[in-house]
Amino acid sequence: MKLLVTGGAGYVGSVCAARLVETGHDVVVVDDLTTGHADAVPEGARFVEADIAEAAAPLLAEGFDGVLHFAAKSLVGESMVDPSKYWSGNVLTSLRLLDAMRDTGTPRLVFSSTAATYGEPEVVPIVETAPTRPTNTYGASKLAIDHAITSYAKAHGLAAVSLRYFNVAGAYGRFGERHTTETHLIPIVLQVALGTRDKISIYGEDYPTADGTCVRDYIHVADLAEAHLLALEHAAKGEHQIYNLGTGTGFSNREVVQACREVTGHEIPADFAPRRAGDPAVLVASAEAATEHLGWTPERTDLRTIVADAWEFTRSRA
Ligand code: UDP
Repeated sequence: MKLLVTGGAGYVGSVCAARLVETGHDVVVVDDLTTGHADAVPEGARFVEADIAEAAAPLLAEGFDGVLHFAAKSLVGESMVDPSKYWSGNVLTSLRLLDAMRDTGTPRLVFSSTAATYGEPEVVPIVETAPTRPTNTYGASKLAIDHAITSYAKAHGLAAVSLRYFNVAGAYGRFGERHTTETHLIPIVLQVALGTRDKISIYGEDYPTADGTCVRDYIHVADLAEAHLLALEHAAKGEHQIYNLGTGTGFSNREVVQACREVTGHEIPADFAPRRAGDPAVLVASAEAATEHLGWTPERTDLRTIVADAWEFTRSRA
């Protein structure tokens, strides 16, 4: 298929673009490089450096079989202090993309949605029918886009799949996580192991969990990429399918730090800091729907494997 990958110079986008190229697709990456890196665009993909809202219509006029839409603002904290960046950067840009897809008759869309659309869950593991009550602007902006996609699928026959990622981690060869502003637990802990940060502060030790720290569902980025390949195959005209992507197993922040100690052999000093606003105690996915309907099964579910791949990437960049 000829595919447009927005945000293909970013972390998840670059891994998916690499897998799409490897599986024989004709890939065009569009990215404005505000958070992405030009050298993360895989060999074999054409790269267009541009604002997606501007570039979508002229690019799609070339004729594409589908779009994988990764480009987004994705810092939860920032979304609370600068919401406009999320409403315009995420929602308006996506609406422009959807309009361009409608106008050019581009048939398929795979969208990077997020567990943040659910907010604080009442029941875990979280199923796709759970209430969506995002606790931050980032999640709200992604949920708004999901709603827009549903209506474009109904009205215009778009074949759409939204994938709601839980905590993405790990790396795929030379493609990995390198945010200028890093807020995610595993890369921050690995910075301590690398010596570029003194310690890790764990946010909150009084959560109602087994060891008092938050629990998250870590999914390997390579497994996530496989779900995108399957989603492209299973997208159906006029339908908007939504799937949670996680492993169904949660690890506490303490367990993550301990796994990083074991993998890196570094003592990784840690202390405790107050809870971070908006952090749910436990976020664990039910991935049963993705398994049943997409035939997706995550394979790299061992936390040490995920951390080891992230560590190899981190060291290779140091
Ligand atoms: N976390 C932490 N210290 C940090 C960064 C994150 O304790 O320096 C915690 C955070 O509070 C949450 C978990 O690690 O409980 C995962 O956070 P992350 O930002 O990686 O992903 P999120 O679950 O927010 O998407």
